Amino acid sequence: MSHTYAEYEQMIQSGIQLGKLSKSSPGRKHHRGIDLAEAFKVFSDTDLATKWLERIRWEDGPVICPLPDCGGTMVSRTNRIDMPYRRKDCRNWFSLKTETSMANSKLPLEKWLLAFYLDLANLKGVSSMKLCRDFDLSQISAWFTLQRVREAFMTDEPPPDFALGGEFQLDAAYFGGLEANRHFIDRIPGGQGGANMMDVISITQVASGKMWVDIIPDTGADTIADTVERIVPMGATLYTDDGRHYRRIQRERHPVNHNLGEYVRIVDLANGMQRMATTNTVESGWSMFRRSYHGIHHKMSPKHPRRYAKTFLGRWNIRLLDTEEQMRHVIREMVGRELSYDMLTEDNGFPSGAGPNGAHYPERRIRYNGELDDYILQG
Ligand SMILES: [Zn+2]
Repeated sequence: MSHTYAEYEQMIQSGIQLGKLSKSSPGRKHHRGIDLAEAFKVFSDTDLATKWLERIRWEDGPVICPLPDCGGTMVSRTNRIDMPYRRKDCRNWFSLKTETSMANSKLPLEKWLLAFYLDLANLKGVSSMKLCRDFDLSQISAWFTLQRVREAFMTDEPPPDFALGGEFQLDAAYFGGLEANRHFIDRIPGGQGGANMMDVISITQVASGKMWVDIIPDTGADTIADTVERIVPMGATLYTDDGRHYRRIQRERHPVNHNLGEYVRIVDLANGMQRMATTNTVESGWSMFRRSYHGIHHKMSPKHPRRYAKTFLGRWNIRLLDTEEQMRHVIREMVGRELSYDMLTEDNGFPSGAGPNGAHYPERRIRYNGELDDYILQG
């Protein structure tokens, strides 16, 4: 079921969601998905794409100047395609890309929206090789475009649901490195290291199932306690395994003893309630990410693991939303996040080269293998 151009125009103007409901599957709410044909019909049209994006940035209200200390209205439309809006008072010309990670890009709006659509269509995203062919871009441009789409997920803040508190599961683990060192269950905190090993902390809020992940400098007790202080609200309850590096956490904490084969345990909380203490949710989200990562790891640049982890889990957190809601979420998040190629490829302490088994093989030339993943490309 596809609509006419006029119908789409009408839907966008009145804020009716695009897409159609998919058949319900057990345990999931109805999902309103946009199929490829519809995506192309709406987003590849400059006028519809513009109207759709205007609604996201300014709702029904007036066009607002995006300059950080302006925010003024009284904006007029111009006939400059690159800068279609102008505000007389502050003399600012701007476009829908201004002050977002799409800023300073020659890629037309409709291709940006299609890139958003394609990249959100599955958990691993679209490959830059595919985008390069479909959009007639160079490989580097396609890769850079995707990194800018994904910049929306690069926030340090936890998902908003975290503020609601309640129960959380936490896990700190090694990530990357050699195959032989990667046993998730058998990891020995503080004892491995090796090429490209990184310490990663992941936290799940049980009620929402939302995950937050970051790379941390070490898995020492103080680093973990500091991270929890920043991410998990006061008064929350935390479940971890029985690792010693969780001991300084300043929250009510109930360990589950994995060494004794214990994965779920009934605990009495400080508030008198009984709950099931487990770290199963955080571990299953995390292990899904690990599987996705390991599939491509042997060629992945060690420079961008944080980007990869945050992107994957960012998509995971919005996976139950309708397609259009996912796109709205990502576009809203990218406002205020400019990303230049220099910022993206600047030295972050990790080598940009990848090599067999993830060992350090610094390399200057650009290597790319689109069949594996996008993160292989090295600047
Ligand atoms: Zn202004």
